[in-house]
Order: sequence, then C-alpha cells, then structure tokens
Amino acid sequence: MVGYNVQIAVDTAHHLIFAHEVTNVGNDRAQLAKMSEQAREATGIKQLTVVADRGYFSGEEVLACDQAGITAYVSKPLTSGAKANGRFGKQDFVYMPNRDEYRCPAGYSMTRRFDTAGSGLVLNVYATPACRRCLLKPQCTTGPERRIRRWEHEAVIDAMQERLSKAPEQMRLRRQTVEHPFGTLKAWMGATHFLTKTLDRVSTEMSLHVLAYNFKRLLNIMGSELMRKVAAA
Ligand code: SF4
Repeated sequence: MVGYNVQIAVDTAHHLIFAHEVTNVGNDRAQLAKMSEQAREATGIKQLTVVADRGYFSGEEVLACDQAGITAYVSKPLTSGAKANGRFGKQDFVYMPNRDEYRCPAGYSMTRRFDTAGSGLVLNVYATPACRRCLLKPQCTTGPERRIRRWEHEAVIDAMQERLSKAPEQMRLRRQTVEHPFGTLKAWMGATHFLTKTLDRVSTEMSLHVLAYNFKRLLNIMGSELMRKVAAA
C-alpha cells in the first residue's frame, strides 16, 4: 500500500508552517535534523529550539541537531525489554559522568568493560562482578551478570532528558502548536486526503495546501488591510 508521510515545522507564536516535506518513509525517525535545518533556514533563527514527539526520537538525529547548534526536545521512547519482563530497566541505573560508571539498583558501581557495535553505533558496555552474589539478581538479569550499554554520544541524550524534565510544558506546547495546522489541513482535504498520486505530485499538492494555509493564517493575524499595504509596499 502506498502511503505518504507529511512533515511540517510550525512556529509556536503564530502557527505558521515554516517548512514542510512529503516522504514515503513509514516513520519519522530520520526527519528531525533535516526538518529543523529547513525551519532554521526559513526563519533565519540561529539559536533554534525544536520540539518533536517521541516518534522522532533517534540518538543520531538529536546529535546532528546538537552539532548544528539546534536545541532539541524529544521524549525518549521506553523500549526496555527487561522492564517489560518485570526486571530493572536501564532507567533504574544511574550514570555518574565524573566517574564514567553506572550505579546499579543494588548500589554497586558498574565500570566500563569494553566497547561493542550495535546498529552502526559504538556502545560502551558496563558491568560489575557483584552480580554473582547479589540478592536482587532475579529482578535484574537472567544471565550471569547484568550489562548496561551506553552509546558513545549518550551525554547528548542525557542533556536533552535533563532539559525535558525542567520544561515539561514543551510537549504540551508541541501538541497545541502542530494540531492547529494539521487539523485545519485535514478538514480541508476531507476523507480522501490527497487527490494526486506519486511523491512528486503529492508534494506539489501539499505545497499548495501549505501556501493556502499560511496565506489564510496571515490574513487572520494581520488583517486584510495591513496585508494589502504590505503587498503594495
Ligand atoms: S544483579 Fe548486578 S547489576 Fe543487578 S542489582 Fe545486582 S549487582 Fe546490580
């Protein structure tokens, strides 16, 4: 089944769409940095802050934003298999940056043992010999010892989590901001959504919708009188 995935970047002050793109990729995980860059280019804002839902979470994308000077707020999905099975999840282990160690739920220090690769990323692996005599082991691991894997750039994710915990209203703001244009556009499009087919045509159709949306939005914000004056100037 052919599907189209519409990306939009919307400003929080006026709900104008500053960047948009149509893809036929079934998820949003590789879109954050690219859409943020497009929004920065369109707005000219150098110190841009972007907020996205957890579907956009990708360590590499958050790192790319960080390296480009864009401050990202994206909730991290909780995907711990151990937690789902009733054991301690990674979030129960506290990273201590000064020592480059984790403190496990039983209070033991887990030191860095070796590095490995996973999904193309370099992961540092932490463990402790205390597991063998630990009373909490049944709640922790089914193997001989518990291992915690940490991405080599995970400090960027930790910093973002810290920002999010200090500004929980950011996610509410995201919902309020993006639902306005999406709700309006979907209502205009009706049940069929796109009238065209193929990525090129759908992209053009979407561009026309965005143009109409922004135009109507500007009319509402500025009023027809001021828009006429600006257009004539
Ligand atoms: S099993 Fe190992 S990592 Fe888990 S709580 Fe016990 S000592 Fe800590």
